[in-house]
Amino acid sequence: ALVAGQRAQSSVLWSHVEAVVRELEESCATPIKKLRQVADAMAVEMHAGLASEGGTKLKMLISYVDNLPTGDETGLFYALDLGGTNFRVLRVQLGGKEGRVVKQEFEEVSIPPQLMTGGSDELFDFIASALARFVASEGEDYHLPVGRQRELGFTFSFPVRQISIGSGTLVKWTKGFNIDATVGEDVVAELARAMERQGLNMRVSALVNDTIGTLAGGRYHDEDVVAAVILGTGTNAAYVERAEAIPKWRGLLPKSGDMVINMEWGNFSSAHLPVTEYDRALDDESLNPGEQIYEKLISGMYLGEIVRRILLRLAKEAALFGETVPEKLLVPFVLRTPVMSAMHHDRSSDLDVVGTKLKDELGISSTSLRVRKVVVQICEVVARRSGCLAAAGIVGIMKKVGRDDAGEEGSRVPRTVIAMDGGLYEHYAMVSATVQCTVKEMLGEEATDSVVIKMANDGSGVGAALLAASHSQYLELEQS
Ligand code: BGC
Ligand code: MG
Repeated sequence: ALVAGQRAQSSVLWSHVEAVVRELEESCATPIKKLRQVADAMAVEMHAGLASEGGTKLKMLISYVDNLPTGDETGLFYALDLGGTNFRVLRVQLGGKEGRVVKQEFEEVSIPPQLMTGGSDELFDFIASALARFVASEGEDYHLPVGRQRELGFTFSFPVRQISIGSGTLVKWTKGFNIDATVGEDVVAELARAMERQGLNMRVSALVNDTIGTLAGGRYHDEDVVAAVILGTGTNAAYVERAEAIPKWRGLLPKSGDMVINMEWGNFSSAHLPVTEYDRALDDESLNPGEQIYEKLISGMYLGEIVRRILLRLAKEAALFGETVPEKLLVPFVLRTPVMSAMHHDRSSDLDVVGTKLKDELGISSTSLRVRKVVVQICEVVARRSGCLAAAGIVGIMKKVGRDDAGEEGSRVPRTVIAMDGGLYEHYAMVSATVQCTVKEMLGEEATDSVVIKMANDGSGVGAALLAASHSQYLELEQS
């Protein structure tokens, strides 16, 4: 007698499965020609966002960071990093050129999901209380000169419109966060009030996006870092722009001549992007419909969810997992990107990992090898598109800063380093490999040797602390 699983599999409508997968591959295709169009469109939108405030896809937010770390930073500084499902608190003792990072410690706290969509005070109270506990555990090998207030670099990984390095209002939430009361508010003031409620005496001396923190941390270790990219729960990039090339900048020209720009590239969109019916449905049903379109094609929060939607269609229309649709497959976001990654990287001949994950995560038991192969194929299509599109974005930045070709004959291309951070890049090997080889392919041989993507593992925490140091309220005191 046939066991249930076998009976179910025999009823799979394979011709329909194949048709749906073929259609998926076509609509997700990223030939080089298309990627060049995406890179060009990115560069065009960068110009637009630098020219005017508001009304553009790329906000090209001015960070008020006009000097990146030099290595001279000294003293005890704290950093707080809020952006994904966890937040981190960090303290670092900086020792200047000789000592560098003398000592550092961090703690990671996961954010209870209900706080991501609740009230503003609740979220900031939770953060401030974890920070207060962390400060209380400061050991004697950290040194704060007598009479000084502790200072903090606040990495806040959402779009913020700043008017100084030390303050800024939230433009909108992204990723899984949605707290109406915070939008339009100064997030430094929100944090400061929460710290006061906790009785924590600390001053935020730098408010930075995670891309800016990563750029600063990257530059501290490597002078050739000119841009930073995050491929994690969300995605974004920052880079060093010439202040003269920012028409909307109304301030004085900084001494350095530079200004770091937080692109907020997650909100990029273009007719050239390969968007499918699954992406459109995901967007419609998201917390932020119509927003962060590029992010929804690329970042870790969404890749597993896109795969789930495709599998659901195949379950419904082609009985891929048997006669009934597995119930769990109906639940949005049940298929997390790390699980997708584990299935995608399954190297066993009978795709054991895929079988186990389908069972454990989605309650789908006894799948055939053929079914498991389809699942891997779908992961491949979605992951590959993510990596290729991220690469096109990087090439767009290289174009904007004139580092995308070998330049004049005989002139040498300066080494150009992109500091990279984020769990997707770090843990999803197929995505990071795709980013790297696509950038190479798009730039061509000569520029390839000079453009380097360097993993900056949690550079953003130290980066924020470094920026807190270079914007310390005591700095002038020390220099005079
Ligand atoms: C946010 C950015 C952030 C990125 C990576 C996006 O959703 O809008 O500000 O840099 O995620 O964390
Ligand atoms: Mg982060």
